[in-house]
Amino acid sequence: MTAVLPARPSAAERSAAPSLAAAVRDLDRRRARSRQRMIGASELGECRRRAAYRIARRRPTNTRTGLQAFLGTELHRGVLRTLRRQYGGLTEVGLEGEQVKGRCDWWHVPVVEDLKTTSRFGFERILTRGVPAKHWFQVSVYAWLLRTGQTHDRRLPAGVGQDVEGVRIRYLSRDSGEDVVFETEHDPGLAAEAIMWLSDVYATVADEGVEAVSRDGFGPGVDTMCDWCPFLDLCWGPPVDAESEGDLSRQSRLTVTDQDYVDAVHDYDAWRAAENEARRHKEYARERLRGRSGPAEDLHCEWSGGSLRTQVDKDAAVERLADLGEVVPTRKVRSPQTIRVTRNGARPDPPPTTGAAIPAGEQPAAPVVRLADAGRHP
Ligand code: SF4
Repeated sequence: MTAVLPARPSAAERSAAPSLAAAVRDLDRRRARSRQRMIGASELGECRRRAAYRIARRRPTNTRTGLQAFLGTELHRGVLRTLRRQYGGLTEVGLEGEQVKGRCDWWHVPVVEDLKTTSRFGFERILTRGVPAKHWFQVSVYAWLLRTGQTHDRRLPAGVGQDVEGVRIRYLSRDSGEDVVFETEHDPGLAAEAIMWLSDVYATVADEGVEAVSRDGFGPGVDTMCDWCPFLDLCWGPPVDAESEGDLSRQSRLTVTDQDYVDAVHDYDAWRAAENEARRHKEYARERLRGRSGPAEDLHCEWSGGSLRTQVDKDAAVERLADLGEVVPTRKVRSPQTIRVTRNGARPDPPPTTGAAIPAGEQPAAPVVRLADAGRHP
């Protein structure tokens, strides 16, 4: 399995990095003006509005976590136990600063590791897009808390700085058991950025109130982080009656006013154009890659698929059942909902044309090109 080693910050970048001490001082100043509520390190960089609800001590409205989360937690615990037994170190180390608390997954001197179990899709996203900044924030804050002795764990003496030189994030696919590891030196600038992110949220809550803090999620049904957010209903309003799902007149809870509607139609139009243009660029790049594979600096390209495969010929199967006098099995499914946004008075675009028909039963699988960040396992 390949992994990415992020570029180490140069000396110049390190000295130009935001000052952690200044960020903490600023945060302390803000704290005096707002009701303090400690944030979990895992929420740093996630969603500003969610952090604001925590700071303002709002009561969570959606507390169900689901079976997937439960399985993830159990798997997480088991993997940490295995790592500790095999390699030593401390797992689930309690950390607590004045502004943020957390539990670092594995401290194996001199590296702090954060373990993330993910779905197949999440794992693929990490391979193709790399580590999100918020995950670097989180592990960097753990490293900073440990280095500065801000621990809350009976196994460690409080107030004594610990040896941390590097940070590591391990993603484990719950579906395949594959893991991929990203590792870099500890960069205090990243921890400072995370604290400054939090400081900004405190400032907005104190100056303008919770509702003025921007939402970083696009809402339920669009962003998974909203689907499972403990403040979902508080943020977007109560859910629409599940019975009416599929009803085209059912109004989304993301659209409240007439102006919201107008904005959404224009958003749809603008992003559709951007999507078409992006697809054109992607297809151009894809054509230039045809027949080529291998590393390309920090990325890697490979092709798969394209071979002939056998699949059920549904029309022939239905015909055969009819010949045999059998009743064709059916089930009720909801037809897909389609949306069409057009310009007033203008002729709408014609529907896309399809290519030549391919004989049923001999459908060639579409070749798939996969680009992944290239790197190394430590
Ligand atoms: S529902 Fe989404 S946008 Fe709202 S607080 Fe939660 S994560 Fe943020």
